[in-house]
Amino acid sequence: MMNMSEPTDKISFFKEYLAVAEPYKGGKAISEIKTKKDKIYKLSSNENPIGASPKAMAAIQENLKNLHLYPDRTDQRLQTALRQFYNNELEADQFIGASSGSEIIDHIIRAFAGEGREVIVSNPTFKPYIMFSSWCGSKVIDVPLLYPDYKLDIRGILNVINDQTRLIFLTSPNNPTGTHIAKHELDELLANIPDHVVVVLDEVYYHFVDADDYTTALPYVKKGYNIIGVNSFSKTYGLAGMRIGYAYTTPELSAYIHQLCKPFLIDTLSLEAGIAALGDQAFIDQTVEIVKKGRLYLYEQLDRLGMHYWKSQGNFILLKPEMDTGQFEERMLEEGIMVRPVANFGAPGCVRVSIGIPEANEAFIAALEKIIK
Ligand SMILES: *Cc1c(COP(=O)(O)O)cnc(C)c1O
Repeated sequence: MMNMSEPTDKISFFKEYLAVAEPYKGGKAISEIKTKKDKIYKLSSNENPIGASPKAMAAIQENLKNLHLYPDRTDQRLQTALRQFYNNELEADQFIGASSGSEIIDHIIRAFAGEGREVIVSNPTFKPYIMFSSWCGSKVIDVPLLYPDYKLDIRGILNVINDQTRLIFLTSPNNPTGTHIAKHELDELLANIPDHVVVVLDEVYYHFVDADDYTTALPYVKKGYNIIGVNSFSKTYGLAGMRIGYAYTTPELSAYIHQLCKPFLIDTLSLEAGIAALGDQAFIDQTVEIVKKGRLYLYEQLDRLGMHYWKSQGNFILLKPEMDTGQFEERMLEEGIMVRPVANFGAPGCVRVSIGIPEANEAFIAALEKIIK
């Protein structure tokens, strides 16, 4: 008979850093919410306020008949569609498809980080960078954004880079602050980092930007810098329920990251939806217009109510209510509005509200007015 050990001994073969890791929960679904209101406005997960791309929905319908077949083995068709979307400025194999923005972030982390390696993040920011990095044993170094403007601390980042550093996560526009990184800031950072460090620029909210000094990773990839642009179909394309995203980088880094891509990683419907959505410019234009108008409306109203908030380049706004954020979230729910407290993103005392259609924005403002009285 095998020598069975006590159940508690099992802990000894857990990886220490994984055993203490916390799961990433993401934002709540409407179905989890209890409220007396019949109508719930979900302004808590930065989703598209007008739904999904109609071209993507048609592609999904069209492909239901293929569900018994395995999807494509590789991301090749998405690569080709992306090359076209980027006007042939990059080669197809410089794109890496994945089953969401989060998934591509995880791929990148597994490719470059891990035990004995370090990752730099700047809180408050998107939580998965930190969680996925710790899940594979990397040490995460936080160089916080500089309060109160949430500017990137370039000197601070350069100061903590050492021989173990592999990745620097930058987010522009940043979630949850809505702030962006100016071109001159990225220039300065890239000019000063050593060759063994890769910059990941998460640009999933880029469609909503109106700042003149904004830049994506594209010009830097073209010049051959060690930089990876990260994108998702969840927000602007309205496909959060499908799970599809992508990254783009230099041919060398792309080939390396592709080593980790599992066959059949992107399911049939997500792949078809993503490819179709890239060609749905009318839907993107409409989404961006609604968000930009909503943003201006909310600024005006938040100013009128004397609220403390940050101007945003994304489809959401960060607020600092003069109230406990848990209580604020609950009072908002009583009014049928879902918002997101973002202490776990590194912004204690703050709440993020997504920009909705005019009706939702007005409902949010009416609720806010009631609550802060
Ligand atoms: C939403 C989001 C993503 C990607 O989300 P997925 O739904 O996993 O594609 C990536 N980065 C940031 C900053 C986000 O807010």
